[in-house]
Amino acid sequence: MAQIRAEKLTLGYGRKEVVKDVDLTIHKGEFLSIIGPSGVGKSTLLMGVNATTAILGGNLNVLGNDIGSIRNGELKGLRSKIGVVFQSFNLVSRLSVLDNIASGMLHRKSLFPALFKHYTTHQYEELYEYMKVVGIEDEALSRCDRLSGGQKQRVAIARAIAQQPEVILADEPISSLDPVSARNVLETLRNANEKYGITVVANLHQLEYAREFCSRVIGMNSGRIVYDGSPERLCQATIDQIYCCPPKNDRVENKSILPFSPAAAATA
Ligand code: ADP
Ligand code: MG
Repeated sequence: MAQIRAEKLTLGYGRKEVVKDVDLTIHKGEFLSIIGPSGVGKSTLLMGVNATTAILGGNLNVLGNDIGSIRNGELKGLRSKIGVVFQSFNLVSRLSVLDNIASGMLHRKSLFPALFKHYTTHQYEELYEYMKVVGIEDEALSRCDRLSGGQKQRVAIARAIAQQPEVILADEPISSLDPVSARNVLETLRNANEKYGITVVANLHQLEYAREFCSRVIGMNSGRIVYDGSPERLCQATIDQIYCCPPKNDRVENKSILPFSPAAAATA
């Protein structure tokens, strides 16, 4: 089932086109990463799914909603089904782990328990389950500002899971973390994906993590998708195409060394 479908989608700011002419279909339960250098439009594309960047052309359908014509009331409902995880965590630092995660349930529970920290036994059980999924249950009552970066990101993921979303959008979720914490965070996202069937779309800088954790990789350069496929098929020439912007003369030269170019095939 397609949850996200973009057709000739162009997104941008004012009249500036940032994501250009993108065709993309994402199905329920996928764990995919968008890779590419800084400034190519990865965040713009991700936030387009959440209806926070403007559509300048084409169509975008998310969870059955046409984003180009969505009304305010429907937008609130849509966003409640999309959990968002940012590089900077966006937690309430003076609140506990438990209360931060509980804030993810606000849209489907009364405001009262979160404001007055009165949770029912059932709500505690649910919150405990989310804490266990991300491995933060031992810190349930700790203030979030006392946690490490990796722990904060796992709280942010638990808060997203507490929304019971269909999709989690993670924008550079490991960029500010050390390698061990980064791996923990990606394992946590994988748990969410496998245990609850939540579709995960993550912008990642590090290609090696995309290869290890994701079933599908989207490579972007200059606002366009230049690769869409499995991590295994991602060859060096394509990686160069995603990450390099050589001057025009070099591009012509490089063509002759692409492993799939007719010239290379003929001399192989
Ligand atoms: P990436 O996530 O791949 O680093 P972004 O999507 O953040 O790239 O940005 C792509 C381009 O859009 C950049 O040139 C950036 O300056 C521009 N951009 C991003 N956000 C805004 C904004 N709010 N207003 C205007 N331009 C923006
Ligand atoms: Mg970005």
